[in-house]
Amino acid sequence: MQKLAAGSWAFILLTASSLAAPQSDPVTINRIADAAFNHGEVVDIAAHLADQIGGRMTNSPAMRKAERWTQDQFKSWGLKDVRTEGFDFGRGWWIESAEVRMTAPRPLELHGIPIAWTPATNGVLSAAIIVAPMSTDKDFADWKGKLSGKIVLVTWPAPPKDDADAPFERLSDADIAKLDKYLEPAFDPEMRQKRIDRYRFRAKLDGFLAEEGAVAWIQMSRTEGRLVHGEGSGYRVGKTPRLSALELGAEDYRRLTRLAKVGEVRLDIDSRVHYEDADHNAYNILADIPGTDPQAGYVMAGAHLDSWVAGDGAADNGAGAAVVMEAARILASVGAKPRRSIRFALWSGEEQGLLGSAAYVEKHLARRPPPTDPAMADLPVYFSPDSYPVQTLPGFSELAAYFNIDNGSGKVRGIYTEGNFAVVPMFREWLAPFASLGAASVVAQPTDSTDHVFMSRLGLPAFQFIQDPLDYETRVHHTDLDTFDHLRPEDLRQAAVVLAGVLLNAAITEKPLPRKPVPSQPGLTDPFHYPDPAKK
Ligand SMILES: [Zn+2]
Repeated sequence: MQKLAAGSWAFILLTASSLAAPQSDPVTINRIADAAFNHGEVVDIAAHLADQIGGRMTNSPAMRKAERWTQDQFKSWGLKDVRTEGFDFGRGWWIESAEVRMTAPRPLELHGIPIAWTPATNGVLSAAIIVAPMSTDKDFADWKGKLSGKIVLVTWPAPPKDDADAPFERLSDADIAKLDKYLEPAFDPEMRQKRIDRYRFRAKLDGFLAEEGAVAWIQMSRTEGRLVHGEGSGYRVGKTPRLSALELGAEDYRRLTRLAKVGEVRLDIDSRVHYEDADHNAYNILADIPGTDPQAGYVMAGAHLDSWVAGDGAADNGAGAAVVMEAARILASVGAKPRRSIRFALWSGEEQGLLGSAAYVEKHLARRPPPTDPAMADLPVYFSPDSYPVQTLPGFSELAAYFNIDNGSGKVRGIYTEGNFAVVPMFREWLAPFASLGAASVVAQPTDSTDHVFMSRLGLPAFQFIQDPLDYETRVHHTDLDTFDHLRPEDLRQAAVVLAGVLLNAAITEKPLPRKPVPSQPGLTDPFHYPDPAKK
């Protein structure tokens, strides 16, 4: 671990600009640490989001509540220009209650959850099941004419998996060292097409089943231990699924498929779910600590406020939202007057494809030509090919750095540099004081699937922190276990200190953070590749 400038860090004055009034007690890491460790509120913030408000599906009543509450909090801490930025999303949806019971061959309560944006059953729906695994539209022919009046079990009942990973994990130094390996970017249009086909399949399946007269469908959870997720994608106006659908715990699902081999199996499903159509816009929440130098631009921290519906959205991403809010509260409470403005962003629509941060990019940072294939137009931007040329907006040069938190509730262990080689020495210097908090690692492995992605892909200095995994990937991510008990208060406080410290450094440094070039059309990674016909 390098210790560059560790000693000098604590003496960095916040008021680096000569325009600012000198402070008698400069804002340093020590004041940040005191505000977080001795007077912290991050645990209360996280508990409010998880326990009082609960799961925050984009545009659901709970998400609306969270949008109002978080703005009230920012205002109460003295943040400036607290505001929403809306973007076109689609329908809200929420679960009042849901029950699924086997009635034959014996009575049994099953563990399931309605799939997001599927319609209610309008009372108890009673029907026999049929096991009809389908994963591409080529499978439809096998089941034509056989599904009328049935509840269709559409997942192939893969056998139970052995637990390969420790259920709860902290990263060792050796684990972190392994992350410091640069992976060359790969440009492979075939891979992208496969993901698009998978995404589109669900809507095709719903249409096929409805045409065949099926009454509902059920999928199997991908996680053992009767955990369920209920993720769905029919949020766009006019794209609402036609049939009620549930996800069942894997053990319950497999039991049904075994019983169906030897006799009739009947279920009662009562799915009471509701749509919200008063406002189809989703809203990002933004709040600022103004900088002293209007020419110096701004730095930004962000986390998504929306979640899935099975749990309380505690680790994904109430924890990240709480840490971002706590960093805002701390920096405001210690009277930070940085050279650059510091912006705090709580994104919406992340779980549907990073929609909130994508909308921010589109509005403030840069635009890309729309996809040339009209069939791509209805897909979340996440799936669209990166199109060129990139047209940067005036705001592009103002964003000096972006820091994202969205890897569960584990403490910060360092930062991923996202292919920005030039930033490495700077981060090593900034993180050195946090070595005793276990947060000083700077690693090269890129990360994906969260709100820094579109900014980083534009060449902007946009980063995600390394976090201890805890039980995030094994049990909590998107499941009904995503509750407050899976957060660790000491980890949340630590993360808030590191985030506030890094933000402050980025906001006062005279040297701008290095950028990557604005991207242009890449060449094929493997120009001599032929697709394997057997895999088509
Ligand atoms: Zn997340």
